[in-house]
Amino acid sequence: MSPASAINPQHDLAGAVTGMETVRVAVAVPVADAYDYGVGSLGPLSRGTVVWVPFGPRQVAGIVLGPGQADVNPARLKMISACAPVPICAPAFVDFIERVAVWNFARLGGVVKMVLSQPKALAPPPQQKLLRAVTPLPADANVTKTRQRVLDQLAGGMAMISADLQREAGVSPAVISAMITAGMVHADLVSADARPPQPDITKSGPTLTDDQSTAATIFCQSIGTGFTPYLLDGVTGSGKTEVYFEAVSRALAAGQQVLILLPEIALSAAWRMRFTQRFGCAPVEWHSDIGIGQKRRAWRAAADGQAQVVVGARSALFLPFANLGLIVVDEEHEHAFKQEEQVIYQARDMAVMRAQIEDCPIILASATPSLESWVNAGETGERQRYERVILPKRVKNAQLPEIKAVDMRQTPPERGRWLAPPLVEAITDRLERGEQTLLYLNRRGYAPLTLCGGCGHKVTCPNCDSWMVAHRLAGRLRCHHCGHETRPKDACSACGQTDTMQACGPGVERVAEEVLMRFPDASFAVLSSDTIGTPKAADAFIRSVIDGDVDIIIGTQMAAKGHHFPNLTLVGVVDADLGLAGGDLRAAERTFQILAQVAGRAGRESRPGTAMLQTLEAENPVLQTLLTGNRDAFLAQEAEARQLAGMPPYGRLAAIILTADSEERLFAGMKLLAQTRPYFQNVDIFGPAPAPLSFLKGRHRGRFLVRTTKVVNIQAILHGWLDEIKLPAGVKMQVDIDPYNFL
Ligand code: ADP
Ligand code: ZN
Repeated sequence: MSPASAINPQHDLAGAVTGMETVRVAVAVPVADAYDYGVGSLGPLSRGTVVWVPFGPRQVAGIVLGPGQADVNPARLKMISACAPVPICAPAFVDFIERVAVWNFARLGGVVKMVLSQPKALAPPPQQKLLRAVTPLPADANVTKTRQRVLDQLAGGMAMISADLQREAGVSPAVISAMITAGMVHADLVSADARPPQPDITKSGPTLTDDQSTAATIFCQSIGTGFTPYLLDGVTGSGKTEVYFEAVSRALAAGQQVLILLPEIALSAAWRMRFTQRFGCAPVEWHSDIGIGQKRRAWRAAADGQAQVVVGARSALFLPFANLGLIVVDEEHEHAFKQEEQVIYQARDMAVMRAQIEDCPIILASATPSLESWVNAGETGERQRYERVILPKRVKNAQLPEIKAVDMRQTPPERGRWLAPPLVEAITDRLERGEQTLLYLNRRGYAPLTLCGGCGHKVTCPNCDSWMVAHRLAGRLRCHHCGHETRPKDACSACGQTDTMQACGPGVERVAEEVLMRFPDASFAVLSSDTIGTPKAADAFIRSVIDGDVDIIIGTQMAAKGHHFPNLTLVGVVDADLGLAGGDLRAAERTFQILAQVAGRAGRESRPGTAMLQTLEAENPVLQTLLTGNRDAFLAQEAEARQLAGMPPYGRLAAIILTADSEERLFAGMKLLAQTRPYFQNVDIFGPAPAPLSFLKGRHRGRFLVRTTKVVNIQAILHGWLDEIKLPAGVKMQVDIDPYNFL
């Protein structure tokens, strides 16, 4: 990566076209191909140069891939308009962009669009004047008292930003302008962007336990020695963060940049606080909740190397780091790393790809590793690709929580209630002791279904094949797929009877209602994306829990992750069976992960914690694993089942999803794909089948599933099949490599 100073300042549109040199440019528009453009007098341009080019009627940004083809018709050749005043992207980063597109069967332009998502970052940063006194002063200088104050501030070669100088010297802008005109003060234009705060690596963290320091040493020694992927497998509360902070510190000491990916940035206030404690300043952030200005600065700071640590959501992976030395993926098992829209990719997997291309270590951290990472760490005797580093114990001598099943067949709650007697008793006990409880139910709103008691009619979404979820706090029925909202009605829209509409099943709001009824003196709070919408609200919420203002938290998966509430000693899972049903490849694994995580919120300090799982199916292997704590046996079993079925990580999988505005068109599209399907050894194609959600956001949907063995290049099979297909108008196709979502 060339330093910022090497940017060619002559980036204005060049007039005369000299020679016919062309370059291939990947434009930031979701198209599959790259295009040739003439270089004119801008050249020569190297791979990675960010340029502006005409594309149709617009000017769009793009990245130079390399030389263009020789045989372009000069009459039709369009010219590059300008080079953007940003550092040239490192060749490794351009390799990464190209490989992400190929691997994910995505359009190259779609990936480039993610990289160049901040057009403002490609313009010169805002500028300000940096002022110095001219020495010696011009002979005819008129040094008034006011002007003397300015000169005093600039004494000894001091340079000051105009605004600071005005304030410190107590003078108006006009005074300074006049001094510049009089040749007494010299002004340089510099970027008005503050340099991001630089982490203080002389600070040290807590004294590490023996296990922690063994792990930290392994990571620290890997800095600067090329690509090694690590799986940091440590129980909840084992201090994984402190361990990878050591590696971060080492990479910074080596002058490298660090990228830390977190699954749910909105709730990482606690994480940010810990980083700040450890390094004396906040990290540079990159996620959807920061403003455009902050994004622009973060992008540029990543590109020119000034952002030393960037923490972000999955899209931070597409920042053009100048000098990346370490990647950390925290909570690597989280499905939030899978991007399901536009370019579909799994950020954890792409992070490993990037580390490999950048030739730096990567740490995947989790208490409940994904089956993929666990298999890659050689736990089933497969070839070991990742090194596994284990933290077996919680720090501060905290015990792992005791996990119990509450068999709802034996001790059911009263009719219309959701908390069974043993759980109610445990909550009562915690309230008496002044300890906190978390009730976990991964369902937003009041009730997942509203039904007419007279005729059985269910209230469904007009745009989707799904029920409308009752949200009583908001006084609305909402579709969780498309966001459609209506006001609940007294009369059934099918049979017209009034006062027959009933809420069926619980959501967090309904559990809160029960808590209020059962424990009227307790304070409670609902934690879901409906109640806590912004990072600020999340910060405030976490604060209030830590300060003891809340006795009972009722939360969705937002409450399951990452939080450290010292006084929380009981976790009640309202419906531990939720999520086990359905044909999802990862249903068991995912349920295990989320329940283990949520149970891990209990008893993280001196007081022991208990997790109680309400279930109708206590014999289910997932629950048995939680009760016995034998995680590795469970993963081994899951691995075996996937191996027998030829499923990832032992086989490759791709989903093809067709959507259309009418059923006829969808069928026509599905038929076309079915007729052209290829037949190869080691390749199975399932479908056409209606998708489980056969109507979504107003579109009809159908699916194919392609499964191959690992030696098969599944992308090549898909290209051979799909590239030449001309789908009927109105039919869209999406390809999802290694799908997580089977809807
Ligand atoms: P994990 O990410 O493995 O769940 P954390 O890194 O969140 O664990 O650590 C749990 C808690 O223990 C945090 O409050 C952290 O500050 C604290 N902690 C971690 N390591 C140490 C240590 N060596 N000494 C004291 N406190 C520690
Ligand atoms: Zn809908």
